[in-house]
Amino acid sequence: MIDADIIVGLEVHCQLDTKSKLFCGCSTDYRDDGPNTHVCPVCLGLPGTMPALNRRAIEYAMRVAKALNCTVIPESEFSRKNYFYPDLDKAYQITQYDKPLAEGGYVEIEGDDGKERKIQLTRIHVEEDPGRLVHMGNAERGRYSLVDYNRAGIPLIEIVSEPEMRSPKEARKFLNKLRATLEYLGVFDSEKEGSLRVDANISLRGSERVEIKNITSYKGVEKGLTFEVTRQKNLIRRGLTVERETRHYLEARGITQSARSKEMENDYRYFPEPDLRPLRVQSWVKEIVLPELPNARRERFVAQYSCSLNHARTLTGELKMANFFEAVVADDRKGICSLAATWIADTLAGELNYRDMGIDAVDPQRFCGLLVLLKGGTITDKSGIEVLRVMLDEQLKGETVEAPETIVVRLNLAKTTGDDGALLAAVKEVITENPKAVEDYRAGKNGALNFLVGQTMKKTRGRADPGELNRMMVAALRDTEQ
Ligand code: ZN
Ligand code: MN
Repeated sequence: MIDADIIVGLEVHCQLDTKSKLFCGCSTDYRDDGPNTHVCPVCLGLPGTMPALNRRAIEYAMRVAKALNCTVIPESEFSRKNYFYPDLDKAYQITQYDKPLAEGGYVEIEGDDGKERKIQLTRIHVEEDPGRLVHMGNAERGRYSLVDYNRAGIPLIEIVSEPEMRSPKEARKFLNKLRATLEYLGVFDSEKEGSLRVDANISLRGSERVEIKNITSYKGVEKGLTFEVTRQKNLIRRGLTVERETRHYLEARGITQSARSKEMENDYRYFPEPDLRPLRVQSWVKEIVLPELPNARRERFVAQYSCSLNHARTLTGELKMANFFEAVVADDRKGICSLAATWIADTLAGELNYRDMGIDAVDPQRFCGLLVLLKGGTITDKSGIEVLRVMLDEQLKGETVEAPETIVVRLNLAKTTGDDGALLAAVKEVITENPKAVEDYRAGKNGALNFLVGQTMKKTRGRADPGELNRMMVAALRDTEQ
């Protein structure tokens, strides 16, 4: 089965980063507080209370809708979605049903074939977040659950895509692009736990559709879908059929598991929320002004800093990384643009990922200092990586981060140059120590020179410039001939 047979659609719930909840004045920033401390009669759903719509939440939702090229519907409506679950204190969720805030639109991703492609959206609607259940014990055999209503009433937007992604990787790219767009718009805090939750639909062409519910990490979406592709392909190979069902994703094990109760098309008995008037935004939506978005910034990076398209894509894929890059190359440092792009998008991103560090831990001034040393030829690329690692490790351990120049001196990493006798001595030593390789070189064997240069690099601990070393080695071999 080829991958063109995979069809993926996503439903993404994103918390909007407002100060207060969607229908009451309770603060949404409960991170440092205990459970059930950010609640009031409205978000606890006590009888006789009335919801009052948060204007900022609607403004944020419209920003998203416009940025994703949706049509904002002039008059939308809130409905009650009735169901019972312990995290839903009112026994109904205020959401939008047949008249959502926005329809259509798209998210542009780089498809698996390397071409930009538009993933169409069905709709975006606004709704309130339910509370959160804390299971004591594990999910299957928990003894009891606790409920925390701090989250109840946080504004959410639900973004529903058409089933147009063709691989788990494309689904991941869709989410990354969506996250970047939300961050650029200033409406979303991707670092807040549970700020993004995904339901993923997947089917192999001709088979039934399976829904994976409530995945809470970006990686989880790709892993859960990949697991499903394998599971479903195996069923088909064995002549079995894929059943239409809802499955849970078990983060710790990286697998999906059939949800015990098969969820049927529920009758939620939606009806218009009588306590809220229709939402009319016709003139308001025209006032919404958008900031620079990821695609525009990517194009600007290519034009303004001569970044390669790939580097520009990586750098602008996260708001913080894009800002970091521009801080590093600010003022009159245009000369280090291409060096900065490579070192941030490739080297720094990898080193941060390895240490599970965020880019905000790095001081752009210090990082720029490192690039200046590289640019001026004071250190080799290899030593540059060593200096960077020392800086990051110091940061990670909470120690004072040394200036790159200080680290170069302390670890004696300054580049050895041709007029430095040490380099020539190392070349001569390697020639003496490796008569076999020297013989091979003279016999015209490929690779012998690389081996000798490599040995010298080792001896000089990466402080020598490889090109220069190569020239010196060839000269020394010529001199010692006869
Ligand atoms: Zn409240
Ligand atoms: Mn929803």
